[in-house]
Amino acid sequence: MRQKLLSEGAKELSYEIREIVKKANILQKEGVEITWENIGDPIQKNAKVPEWIKEIIQNLAADNITYGYSDSKGELKTREFLAVRNNEMGGAQITADDILFFNGLGDAISTLYQYLDSTSRVIGPSPAYSTHSSAEAAHANHKPLTYKLDPENSWYPDMEDLRNKVEFNPNVVAILLINPDNPTGMVYPKEILDGIVALAKEFDLMLISDEIYHHITYNGARSYALSEVIDDVPGIAMKGISKEMPWPGARCGWIECYNRDKSSEFDQLCNALDDAKMIEVCSTTLPQMAIPKILGDERFFEYRNALNKKIGWRSTFIADTLSEVPELIINKTYGAFYNTIVFKEGVLKKDQSLEIENPEVKQKVEDWVEGVPLDFRFVYYLLGATGICVVPISSFCSDLLGFRVTLLEEDEELLKKTFTQVRDSIQEYLDS
Ligand code: PLP
Repeated sequence: MRQKLLSEGAKELSYEIREIVKKANILQKEGVEITWENIGDPIQKNAKVPEWIKEIIQNLAADNITYGYSDSKGELKTREFLAVRNNEMGGAQITADDILFFNGLGDAISTLYQYLDSTSRVIGPSPAYSTHSSAEAAHANHKPLTYKLDPENSWYPDMEDLRNKVEFNPNVVAILLINPDNPTGMVYPKEILDGIVALAKEFDLMLISDEIYHHITYNGARSYALSEVIDDVPGIAMKGISKEMPWPGARCGWIECYNRDKSSEFDQLCNALDDAKMIEVCSTTLPQMAIPKILGDERFFEYRNALNKKIGWRSTFIADTLSEVPELIINKTYGAFYNTIVFKEGVLKKDQSLEIENPEVKQKVEDWVEGVPLDFRFVYYLLGATGICVVPISSFCSDLLGFRVTLLEEDEELLKKTFTQVRDSIQEYLDS
């Protein structure tokens, strides 16, 4: 080629949550039955969307108007509905103009980082949700910049680490939080959020809060929205319907911009995001039109609460079962639908393995584990020996060694069987 084709940042794009699927598919062809514990898609794990929600969507699909473009920023009535919903919480107030729709939060995330100056950095949590960390790193042509979440302290942010990195890295312009968090399942208490807001004020930063799991809390937790704690700091909350409704295939999410009047630079960034969407014309119309009808229906909260209760039960079962292995660090989860299990330091070794009967599968796993981090090694053996497909935590920009599981299995017996098998396999692996 006459000139270089690929940007430097392109090598930062990685998404192990789907990479592992390639390996699982190879083993599936060899006859291994796969239990998918890698991806946060409730529909794939047999969640059934209620008939009343399907009826709303069917009726919309029968209406000609839903086949047209929407306003560039998103359906006005929907944005008005969402602004009122935010304002009722009593924190930072917005109008429909402060809301911008995207084709899923994945689209919002990549667009936001794309329009930040390439020298400006957003510091995010580690373990990191790769869509954020990869997109931010790609925009900056650099490795992701992260602060530690501490598994020995309920996965709360290590505030000293965060403060140090903000203080000594003048390129940091924003702090990202994911609350409730993927991949740890933690929900942050108000004091932690107040501490992050205070840090943003002190260093003149903006805040970004990914709240896609805001209404998915259980085990007595309540999640605070950014708008409730942000005070006068400029900030963006990211919200969507992929997880809460759940309708991930709709590809529909939105951002809410708070305190645009407090910083002209922040206001310009929000305007640039509006302009970027205008160039694309708009995001998908039909799911936007469904939002007020579904989220505004009182049946929605009954339905969501029932689902949350079920996730809470699974969370407790999984944490209790895996807590029987003393070499693991286990935290009970309070939100979203993942748990991250960490191996204590020094317990993983290069020669550990699980017995795999099928010689073809055994050979493949032995080839894959050459030179990989120790948690990848465990994950590949687990996949080969049991078909259980989890994601290694070192792929979430983390120095920790462990793996992420989901709390989505609808079939209680299968869930019990899967996590009992995970527990037994860990014991066998560590003893090997
Ligand atoms: N943000 C977080 C924290 C997620 O976990 C996910 C998906 O797993 C997304 C964003 C992407 O959401 P969407 O389906 O709206 O693109």
